[in-house]
Amino acid sequence: MKRNLLCMTAPVRDGFDIPCHEIGPASAYPAVALVAGLHGDEINGVFILSRLADFLNNVEEGKYPELRLVRRVLIIPAVNVLGVNLRTRTWPFDKTDINRMFPGSTMGETTQRIAYAVLEATKRADYRIDLHTASTDFEEIPQVRLHGPTEAERQTARKFGLPAIMERSLSPVFTTTMMCSWKVWPGESFLLRIGQGGTVQLNHCQRVFRAMVSFLGRIGVLEGVDIALEDEEICHFDKASAFRVYAEKAGTFVSDSQVGRWVRAGQELGYIYDSFSGNVIEKVVAPIAGLLTGIRRHPLLFEGDLILRVNRKV
Ligand SMILES: [Zn+2]
Repeated sequence: MKRNLLCMTAPVRDGFDIPCHEIGPASAYPAVALVAGLHGDEINGVFILSRLADFLNNVEEGKYPELRLVRRVLIIPAVNVLGVNLRTRTWPFDKTDINRMFPGSTMGETTQRIAYAVLEATKRADYRIDLHTASTDFEEIPQVRLHGPTEAERQTARKFGLPAIMERSLSPVFTTTMMCSWKVWPGESFLLRIGQGGTVQLNHCQRVFRAMVSFLGRIGVLEGVDIALEDEEICHFDKASAFRVYAEKAGTFVSDSQVGRWVRAGQELGYIYDSFSGNVIEKVVAPIAGLLTGIRRHPLLFEGDLILRVNRKV
């Protein structure tokens, strides 16, 4: 069932709504709450959740007779609806970051009201999942990000079957994120970070779509899913496992390396060319042996820009 989470009016244009899907048996609160598009330019997550909603609606309509949704799933594919339309990360009217507006309020600015409505709809769920991407300049391996997790969350994170689980401490600075607001409620919270902003990367999206379906199977919300583990191993990385390479010179960075590949120490992963003369001015090599978990995709480099990140297996 589609309903509007929040309806808003605007001074000199038509009103706008934030729609959501509620799928599966009725209940006081959803078993799983999935949120994407807090940042309007992070299209991978919006695409994945809209496709997942379509799939689960088809399950409900009986198009997959072997599958049965036994608990309620709430899906909000695009919180920053106007940002998605205008391709902006922030809320277009006042340039605020919705993910710095939590827990929000019913009385405040528009983005505070949005944050409040999203939190109210999601906070009581047993499992809460927030989808993001890296910036529009950088690509990240599809990963589960844990912020100050419980042991239960560490175990559950493996049920996505994604190649990397990245653990971070809960930021003492960004206390106004949705993740921070979720954390005070019972239940488990996960952030998925998928690819690059500003585009749909079909291979990443398909992989995470499958991850979502098998996750719903493994937690018992979707019955009948083939939940055989994929062959690939799941690596758990802490902050100390990350080795970053920064640009020592400005220029044009070009690479055909793919995130998610294991690399050798010293392996050439890309080149910085002189933007005018075209000669190679720097070979970019893996700083250690490990998994290439992130790489810059915007070609124009300034000195000191982050080029790539390799995580050492722990
Ligand atoms: Zn984001």
